[in-house]
Amino acid sequence: MKRRPVVTIDGPSGAGKTTVSILLAENAGMMRIDTGAMYRAVALAARRAGIPWDDGTRLGELARGMALSFRSVAGSVRVFLGGEDVSEAIRTPEMSMGASAVSAHVPVREALVAKQREMGEGGGVVLEGRDTGTVVFPDAEAKFFLDAAAAVRALRRYRELGPAGCQSYEEVLSDVLRRDVRDSTRDHSPLRVADDAVYIDTTTLAVDEVVEAILRRLPGELR
Ligand code: C5P
Repeated sequence: MKRRPVVTIDGPSGAGKTTVSILLAENAGMMRIDTGAMYRAVALAARRAGIPWDDGTRLGELARGMALSFRSVAGSVRVFLGGEDVSEAIRTPEMSMGASAVSAHVPVREALVAKQREMGEGGGVVLEGRDTGTVVFPDAEAKFFLDAAAAVRALRRYRELGPAGCQSYEEVLSDVLRRDVRDSTRDHSPLRVADDAVYIDTTTLAVDEVVEAILRRLPGELR
């Protein structure tokens, strides 16, 4: 039986992937797989287990054995480590940098990519991340790459974090730029635009406009 379509949305931090993929999943009746949340969960679990973020071998073992799941709670998708809802704990600036650090290790990527393929194998999913169209599902039916000027991406992140983030706009911008460099220059699965992805610059677009642009390009059965 032909699988339902797989849609991938890649791009740097603050490009709009999360907001857009949530709306898209609702609109097209797809399940959303937030691959960034999975790297964040590895960083959190490592911190708690006392495993340094530069120990690729132990991080790989941790990622392979982790009971990581997405569950729908009161209409929103939450991230669980075992029985614990870690959706908030993985969103701190510290875990953003931690995710970027742990995601550079091949054993971690291999473990999470295997889980992502398993979660998406039946199709009817939208994956968001950095390598979902290039590595996880290179044969996805529809691929998008969202991008925006760094200053705008940092402003979006800054507003999203709010006072609880305890960071100035300048600090957020500097973190965003550091992650951009690390994510796009690493040896394994660097952030890049897939040859067959639709590139959308969201700098001056409203969320609705981005969703519209994507919906127009989806396979007929999802529109
Ligand atoms: O998208 P988000 O900001 O939650 O991702 C956190 C980090 O996880 C990214 O900066 C990146 O280093 C890593 N990541 C990755 N591959 C993915 C998704 C996220 O390397 N597919």
